[in-house]
Amino acid sequence: MKKVVILGERQVGLIDAPDPYPIEDWVVVKVEASALCTEYKSYLTGRELQLGGHEGVGEVVAIAQPGSVKIGDRVVIWPQIPCGKCALCNSGNYVYCENSADFEKLMGNKNGLGTFAQYVLKPSWLLPHIPDNMSYEHATMAIDGIGASFGAFQAIDINAFDTLLVTGLGPVGLGAVVNARFRGTRVIGVEPVQWRREQAVKMGAEVVFDPGAPDLVEKIRSLTEGKGVSCALDCSGKVQSQRLCIDATRRKGRVAFVGETNDILSIQISPDMIRKGLTLVGSWLYNMADYPKVIQVIQESPLIDLLVSHVMPMSQIQQGFELLASGQCAKVVVDPWR
Ligand SMILES: [Zn+2]
Ligand SMILES: [Zn+2]
Repeated sequence: MKKVVILGERQVGLIDAPDPYPIEDWVVVKVEASALCTEYKSYLTGRELQLGGHEGVGEVVAIAQPGSVKIGDRVVIWPQIPCGKCALCNSGNYVYCENSADFEKLMGNKNGLGTFAQYVLKPSWLLPHIPDNMSYEHATMAIDGIGASFGAFQAIDINAFDTLLVTGLGPVGLGAVVNARFRGTRVIGVEPVQWRREQAVKMGAEVVFDPGAPDLVEKIRSLTEGKGVSCALDCSGKVQSQRLCIDATRRKGRVAFVGETNDILSIQISPDMIRKGLTLVGSWLYNMADYPKVIQVIQESPLIDLLVSHVMPMSQIQQGFELLASGQCAKVVVDPWR
């Protein structure tokens, strides 16, 4: 099979690798579409890909023993390899499992690990079904495109009574606009790239500011009767935007963080939290019990084609990574068979 490897700084290519084969409850999925995510950062620096793609969907083509899928099933390839046995897994919080398996140790190589490849290997119970009428490109949104912000919105419970601030309107932030509009929530955005600001407005964001604009907190307060937004979501992973989420949210508001960073955000407990009564939540993907709801958003939202901005052959993945680096895109999806 063909799979993607980083060849150097801003260089990526396809290599031939052995096809994976099914073993015990691990099945082979023919990858039909895979969305690009943070891997472009490895591409820019020339670092080896950790997983080699984690937002794939496809068709089950080989099984070793009867399980929860059969040959021909169309499935979402759930990321990671949780244990399936701990309390977190038993409650559907697979993404937080502390006993995730090491694929390379288990299989002796990385063939079948990442979704930037023609086949992957996955335990059958990590392959939820895709509805018949849903395209593979749309189904890839069930991982981070729609899923990341969906999990955060379940945690802070946004609805039509809320005004939401979203900072960082990259692929995940634009997915947040889709989710928020699906719930009838009013959206204010903050994003440095003009293409993404315009895309968010097309999706129904009321106003989108540049993060460099002066007096942002005052501007946001003036749009919310002087109080600030009732909830906020940071998708940027930037300390300045995390701070804005806290400062622009009204008393008793809720703030969630999905943008990854190791940088340090300072919080003053009295003014920021106790006196404001703020709820601050970190969120990573979503509980698998919510998968049908995530699928429902993808099925019913009229905005999904604005979220899947580019579909291209995997042989042109270099162009996809460049698009992500430029910011001139929402979700970029590749087809491993072209
Ligand atoms: Zn992702
Ligand atoms: Zn577990």
